[in-house]
Amino acid sequence: MSKIFKVKARQVYDSRGNPTIEAEVFSKNKSAKAICPSGASTGTYEAFEKRDKNNKKYLGKSVLSAVNLINSKISKKLKGQNIHNQEKIDFLMINLDGTKQKRRLGANSILAVSMAVKKLSAKLKNLPLYKTFLVKNNFRLPFPLMNIINGGAHANNGLRIQEFMIRPDRAKSFSEAMRICFVVIKNLNKLIKSKGLSTSVGDEGGFAPMINNNNQALDLIVQAVQKSGFKNGKDVSICLDVAANELVKKDKYSIHSKNFISVEKSILEYRKIVQKYKIKSIEDPFAENDWNSWNKLMKSVKKIQIVGDDLYVTNLERLKKGFLNLSSNAILIKLNQIGTVSETLEVIKFAQIIGFKTIISHRSGDSEDTFIADLAVGTNSNQIKTGSLARSERVAKYNQLIRIEEELGKRAIMNKIH
Ligand code: PGA
Ligand code: ZN
Repeated sequence: MSKIFKVKARQVYDSRGNPTIEAEVFSKNKSAKAICPSGASTGTYEAFEKRDKNNKKYLGKSVLSAVNLINSKISKKLKGQNIHNQEKIDFLMINLDGTKQKRRLGANSILAVSMAVKKLSAKLKNLPLYKTFLVKNNFRLPFPLMNIINGGAHANNGLRIQEFMIRPDRAKSFSEAMRICFVVIKNLNKLIKSKGLSTSVGDEGGFAPMINNNNQALDLIVQAVQKSGFKNGKDVSICLDVAANELVKKDKYSIHSKNFISVEKSILEYRKIVQKYKIKSIEDPFAENDWNSWNKLMKSVKKIQIVGDDLYVTNLERLKKGFLNLSSNAILIKLNQIGTVSETLEVIKFAQIIGFKTIISHRSGDSEDTFIADLAVGTNSNQIKTGSLARSERVAKYNQLIRIEEELGKRAIMNKIH
């Protein structure tokens, strides 16, 4: 048995330049580290992110008290524990915290430690990380959901919808999926330039041109797909993350333009763009408490993927509610929404049992940590959402998947999208 010798944390920075936690877990002669990500369009029901609101030196954004908690309380609690018993370790931290949303220790401190424990366990077993989750053989590679135009809270261009993504549905391998996205992105770059717009990128690496009309963004993507020699809706599908929590006021939504309209009208507009642009997936089409509207949309747009992100916040109870209510057919998985590796795996397991697609996701504030790439393969998740082919914190995850594909060789099979 390998025991935890100590846990040490430090404050480092994320891709938006905000402080975040890196935890390092030590056994007798080895250690592993992990960095916690951080969201911008966060759901109300997410686990709590602990920041030093009163520390003016860091404009209220430091995580020094969370770091201290890891170095004192968490390290003391975990010392001597069997590194390979992830569930017990996570349970001990959940108990030490004792609150529903991990408010005392902060989900950011707990998750950084939980991920580092998982990595150290893999290291000590001499196994690549992806081989230590749910799947033991027949690993499948996820389809990338590449976010190529950023709007909403991730850019300051006035686009209502937060993420315009492409998914290379007919790719036969992960490397081929990457090549297809690469070509479309390069063509999109040229198109945006030719219109005299800026090709600077948003938080997740997608372009953030100064346009404020969803259809204009969708038209650009369709043109880029066609210019690349691919068929929109067949070789490459457009997928959206609306992040509608940010676009609701008194039961009305401003998804399709600045005007707030009823749910019924919003659904009609959704149907129009789904048909016109052959959209295959919509994430967070309505707000996190609006269960009824989700259900109405599910009934009126058949055959497309409806993904719950802020709706479920990787929380088993909320997922069960959504399943019974027929709210969606897929779930976005974000480790820091729930705060431990074990709870995340529980949610993935349940989602797959009820036939939901699982999509592993980064956060808009992320880091060089590639944990989620391994998690996607190790759980046979259909898709991974980790930004565009720009900004190293995004590209790092894709590169890790390329390595995993190479290592699996002939046994590397793409997941099924339909
Ligand atoms: P976030 O964005 O990390 O800012 O929440 C990602 C998403 O909404 O999917
Ligand atoms: Zn989302």
